[in-house]
Amino acid sequence: MNDTDFGLADLPLRDDLRGQTPYGAPQLSVDAALNTNENPYPPSPQLAEEIGSAVAEAAAGLNRYPDRDALQLRADLARYLDHGLDRDQVWAANGSNEVLQQILQAFGGPGRKAMGFEPSYSMHPILARGTGTQWVPVPRTAEFAIDVEAAHSAIAVHQPSVVFLTSPNNPTGTALPLETIEEVARIAPGVVVVDEAYAEFRREGTPSALTLLPSHPRLIVTRTMSKAFALAGARLGYLAAHSATVDALQLVRLPYHLSAVTQAVAITALAHADELLGAVKRLRAERDGLVDWLRGHGFAAADSDANFVLFGRFDDRAAVFQGLLEHGVLVREVGPPQWLRVTVGTPEEMTAFRRALLDVTGRS
Ligand SMILES: *Cc1c(COP(=O)(O)O)cnc(C)c1O
Repeated sequence: MNDTDFGLADLPLRDDLRGQTPYGAPQLSVDAALNTNENPYPPSPQLAEEIGSAVAEAAAGLNRYPDRDALQLRADLARYLDHGLDRDQVWAANGSNEVLQQILQAFGGPGRKAMGFEPSYSMHPILARGTGTQWVPVPRTAEFAIDVEAAHSAIAVHQPSVVFLTSPNNPTGTALPLETIEEVARIAPGVVVVDEAYAEFRREGTPSALTLLPSHPRLIVTRTMSKAFALAGARLGYLAAHSATVDALQLVRLPYHLSAVTQAVAITALAHADELLGAVKRLRAERDGLVDWLRGHGFAAADSDANFVLFGRFDDRAAVFQGLLEHGVLVREVGPPQWLRVTVGTPEEMTAFRRALLDVTGRS
């Protein structure tokens, strides 16, 4: 039997997965990869070496299972978050995507609903689908904000077990006012997840939902080391919540889900948080400069509290995407129809992006 005789259609795939597409940001080899919101600055050679030593030490004990509860790592993450949290209120997994999946496994599932405000992170509905949770999208306003009235009625009608609030939002860059988060937390019957993957990039004065945790026991704030920490390859995400939420996640997590290698890498990286986060300031300045430049050249650019900018508007965004790619600049075709998203890279990468964009659109 050769490959072409057998396909997905011949497998006993779940009905709700038929015809669906997997997450798939292109991984292409280009001069400027500005499509997955990675941090363009790698760890220094010294830090890479230190991580290597920690991994070598972990390797000597790989005959044993790792610390199932990742106690040291969680204590270090709690200290990093610095909101009076302790390790019982922090949980970690292989990327915040796994944390989000565990949340849906524990609080979503068949017969339950998860709600999000779109456009937003494409993985939220994909993870809902994978866990058999019905996805309820609610549109954002034209300014990519959440209309509290609309949230109110959608929550009243659907009674979602899980509500996702992404702040700063991907792909728009929009941060939510604390009042919006508080209001949703007040009316939602289940858990409210504030996905703060880009928290470290927010502008001065933009608050974090971490400050709401003591007064809102069903609130969950998720974070990641993939973006600001420049550690996307290590796969480490985490959350802060009431310790009862962390207890709930123990019921669905795989035993020993965080390898000894991952824990060693993350602990070492956290000990050098200052260095790894050193580029955040530069990236924020580069982002603000990019927004100004785009607007100055007649493009629309959404306000951003993240390490990317949503820009437009293009009657044929696919053509602009393709034109940029032909200049060696890979952006992301995501979000509302006339917009594209570009990750903030190095100054050289941003120069290449600006040149290519002017050339492709015929502007100057
Ligand atoms: C990048 C991103 C994540 C992070 O995913 P990891 O699994 O931690 O790499 C989570 N949420 C949003 C909104 C993101 O953009």
